[in-house]
Amino acid sequence: MVYLDYAAATPLDAKVLGAMRPYFTNEFFNPSATYLPAKAVHRAVESARSKVAAILGARPAEIIFTAGGTEANNLAIHGVMRHYPDKKVLVSAVEHESVLAPARRYKCQEIPVLADGLIDLAALEQLIDDTTVLVSVMFANNEIGTIQPVRSVADIVHRVLTQRRQSGNHLPLYFHSDATQAANYLDLHLSRLGVDLLTLNGGKIYGPKQTGLLWVRSGLPLESLLDGGGQERNLRSGTENVPGIIGFSLALELTQTKRGSESERLKKLQQLFYDQLAKKIPSCIINGSRAKRLPNNVHITVPGQDNERLLISLDEAGILAAAGSACSASDQESSHVLRALGLTDDDARSSLRFTMGRATTKRDVQYTVDTLARLIA
Ligand code: PLP
Repeated sequence: MVYLDYAAATPLDAKVLGAMRPYFTNEFFNPSATYLPAKAVHRAVESARSKVAAILGARPAEIIFTAGGTEANNLAIHGVMRHYPDKKVLVSAVEHESVLAPARRYKCQEIPVLADGLIDLAALEQLIDDTTVLVSVMFANNEIGTIQPVRSVADIVHRVLTQRRQSGNHLPLYFHSDATQAANYLDLHLSRLGVDLLTLNGGKIYGPKQTGLLWVRSGLPLESLLDGGGQERNLRSGTENVPGIIGFSLALELTQTKRGSESERLKKLQQLFYDQLAKKIPSCIINGSRAKRLPNNVHITVPGQDNERLLISLDEAGILAAAGSACSASDQESSHVLRALGLTDDDARSSLRFTMGRATTKRDVQYTVDTLARLIA
């Protein structure tokens, strides 16, 4: 089997599974309980929080563990906007549905992207007005792998906020970024990103699914989505997913340690993929910026081809890849990301996404392009 859908799911790292296992069995205690073994579990959760905080350059109290990226994104958008229900939220046109859908419940405008999939910064400057409270731009895109200029967005947000304060308008302006797809390859240090809220997702970093976090800058008032026992500083009630938190924190540590070497290795495979495609399927078009792109993503349009049929044939040949937004459970429409890039519906339906990962080899890439070329011929 050649698995090329790492943007949809990553296998659990064996070390992560090993670290989680005791918390399913002997260390099953509720971290809020008062006896000593439960206190040890509580300490393990807090040490995971500190570990994650150190990686991000954050304070432990700023970390809210969630059940995955969707929940973290919903908490970021609703958590801010419920305080300002009549104000405006700006989201990039290529966000994941878990940002778009909550944002559309408020006054929401989409920031367009350029043909290479990168956000149009001039359009962002025009769209921010006196009533905008939140801007959400993802760090890296899940379909085309493009890396957004998060620091430049932060600079614009900070400049607008300074001008706003000088003019006597005290409405806040926050910047959220969904870093779900970025965590395996990019530097997540918050001081360099300049964001106020950040989403991470365990299921994409060789950690357990339904784990992740929202980092929230201290002092930022956030409304909770889940009320109850008051866990996670009252921002996310519910007994902590202890094995999940332990697994997620180790997965983040491991992937951030490997990110330099894995990026280098995958960049070479990505180049090989491009070279083989140019040689064997010259009609194919690569979507999204090639320079500002995750090293594991190859996204192509093969004009005139039907991607659903190609995916079935690739599957029969043992190659698991994706078309459009593989992250939604069912999607009849062509990808909103590709449409935002200016692709026609027909071209969007002729597009395929290959996302590589830790187990991907040169042979996998060669076999995939050879198979694809044969299917198209
Ligand atoms: N954000 C991005 C960029 C994603 O790729 C995904 C994954 O599907 C999500 C959010 C949502 O993650 P999950 O479905 O694990 O909650």
